Amino acid sequence: MVIGIIGAMDEEVKILLDNIIIDNKMIKAKMEFISGTLWGKNVVVVRCGIGKVNAAVCTQILIDDYKVDNIINVGVAGGIGIEINPGDIVVADSLVQHDMDTSAFGDKLGQIPRLEVFDFKCDNKLVRIAKEACKSSSGHKSFVGRIVSGDQFIADVNKIKWLQGEFRALACEMEGASIAQVAYLNSLPFVIIRSISDNANSGAHIDFEKFIPIAVENSTKILKNMLEAM
Ligand code: SAH
Repeated sequence: MVIGIIGAMDEEVKILLDNIIIDNKMIKAKMEFISGTLWGKNVVVVRCGIGKVNAAVCTQILIDDYKVDNIINVGVAGGIGIEINPGDIVVADSLVQHDMDTSAFGDKLGQIPRLEVFDFKCDNKLVRIAKEACKSSSGHKSFVGRIVSGDQFIADVNKIKWLQGEFRALACEMEGASIAQVAYLNSLPFVIIRSISDNANSGAHIDFEKFIPIAVENSTKILKNMLEAM
């Protein structure tokens, strides 16, 4: 089994790269794919860059060139809802692209037109392993639910309320639903695990800088527990 692990930013893959026993490195589409053994498992770790296009390109390369059996995306996200705080974990069970809008034709917001599904469901087994992994990690709360993605850094209370009302989202970020769509198109199991770096409100950019280390530490802890259980 080979597991593809994607992080969007250097900060999100640093601890992984500090721990991987490297077999090989390859650069494609300006992304460095590092294969090796991480916490006992065969993995390919890659920093895809920020946003949906980077994440989509990266996911398809993992599938085509590395024949990965599943994909785990770890990283940080904006929390939605008063009970979710920086450092907390959200394991996605489904994802939607909140910036997809063909509502002029009567389509539901987030619906990718002419696609047979509305949301992209994470693999049940990977979600279960992630939930178990959360139980053995202390010092933060863990949630399971929907994550929404779009090519926007959300820093606006009204936008969060809209994301909550329209999509019942627990967190927002910029890559997960794109990874999910590519995995869906290729029938590949995947899960998205994010730790909260900010509350997507007017202070989000400040919190983001402040909480990124603790958020990354927590999402990496979950990933480590998961790999050890897989
Ligand atoms: N100029 C900043 C841009 C960060 S974009 C920088 O280079 O550091 C934010 C990243 O963190 C994205 O990868 C996204 O997935 C995630 N993220 C965290 N909080 C977010 C929020 N409130 N809205 C959208 N994405 C968020």
